[in-house]
Amino acid sequence: MIYEDYYIFTPGPVKMPKEVLEIGAKQTPYFRNSKFSEVTFECERALLKLVNAPKGSRVIFLTASGTAGMEAVVMNLLNKDDNALVVNGGGFGERFVKICKTHKIPHKEFKVVNSNLTNIEVEAPKGEYNSLIVNAHETSVGHLYDLNAMGKYCAKNDMLYIVDAISMLVTDPLDMQTSGIDVVIASSQKGLALPPGLSMVILSPKALDRVRDINSLYFNFKDYLDNGERGQTPYTPAVTIMLQLEARLKQIERLGGVDATIKNAKEVAEYFRESIKDLPLKPYTPYMPNAMTTLTPTDGKSAMDIVNDLEERYKVMVCPNGGELRDKIFRVSHMGDMTKEYTDVLINALYDYYNIERVK
Ligand SMILES: *Cc1c(COP(=O)(O)O)cnc(C)c1O
Repeated sequence: MIYEDYYIFTPGPVKMPKEVLEIGAKQTPYFRNSKFSEVTFECERALLKLVNAPKGSRVIFLTASGTAGMEAVVMNLLNKDDNALVVNGGGFGERFVKICKTHKIPHKEFKVVNSNLTNIEVEAPKGEYNSLIVNAHETSVGHLYDLNAMGKYCAKNDMLYIVDAISMLVTDPLDMQTSGIDVVIASSQKGLALPPGLSMVILSPKALDRVRDINSLYFNFKDYLDNGERGQTPYTPAVTIMLQLEARLKQIERLGGVDATIKNAKEVAEYFRESIKDLPLKPYTPYMPNAMTTLTPTDGKSAMDIVNDLEERYKVMVCPNGGELRDKIFRVSHMGDMTKEYTDVLINALYDYYNIERVK
C-alpha cells in the first residue's frame, strides 16, 4: 500500500511535513557522541519551551509508543502509598485505569460523560487523593477537558497533576505553568507529526522530586535523568525520530511558535465543521478539540460504512470506532501538516458521497 496516494485524516499517524519525511529517508547516524547529545539537548529545550514548563523541568525520551509513556509515569511516580483519581471518559482513560490496576496503585476511577470538567470540584468523587491522572484529549471520542479547572482542583487539594497530552499537543493550548501541570506525556505520531516510536515525558521539579527507585530496568526514570544530563539515553534511542523531532520543533518555531500551529489547527477545524453543515452529520460532543472532529451520521447510515467507502472510493482515510460506537461515530483528525485546501479533498468527497451540492 503506497500511503502517499491517500489523503490522511486519521488521529495518528498523521500527515507528516515534507522536511520530516526527508529525514526519514536518510542513513541513521551513530549517536554516542557530542553531535547527537546536541540534538537531544535541543529537543529538550524546545519541548520545555513549547509547554512553558517551570524552571528546572526535564524531558525523558523513551523509545516506545505513547502507552509506554503513560505506564512509565505511573510506575516511576506512584506506588502503593498513593491514591490516584483517574479520569475515564473513554478508551484512553480506561487504559490509565488498567495501568494502575497492573501496578497495584490505589486509585479511584472517575467516569466522565458529557462534561469537560470545568466543574470538577463538584463532579469529582469525594475522597483523599494525592494525584490526578487525565488524558487532556480523550481521543477515542474526541473530548477535550478543561486543563485550568483541573489544575485549580489539584492545587487546592495538593495533588500531583499528570496529563497525557499526546493527542492535543501543538493543536490545542497547553501551558504547564498556567495550569499547574506537573507531568506532560507526549508521543511522536500525533500533533507532532512524526512516525510512531518515540514518547516524551516532561517532568516539573515537583514531579522530579517524586521519581522513585523502581523495579524495572528499561523504564527506570532515574537512569534516563542521569544520562540526559549529557544529552544521552541509557539505551539506543529512536535516533531518526529524534532528528525528525528536532526538525519539527525548529519548523514550529520558524512558523511563529506553538501559538501559530494552534491557530492553524483551530482555523482548519472550524473551516471543516462549518463546511459540512449541509450534510447529515452532527458533532458528537460539544467539547471538541482543534485536533479532531467526531461526527455522528443523522440519517441512520453506519459510520463504519462511511469510513470504508471514503477509503475505497476517494482514497480518503478517516478513523472508525470499535465496539458499541462502531456504527455511531467516526473521527476526522486535523493534526499534522494540515491546510484548508487539503481538508477540501475530504469535504468534497463527503458532498459527493451524499450526492449533495456543496454551496460555498
Ligand atoms: C494515541 C494516544 C496514546 C498513545 O497510544 P499508543 O498507541 O501507545 O501510541 C495515548 N493517549 C492518547 C490520548 C492517545 O490519543
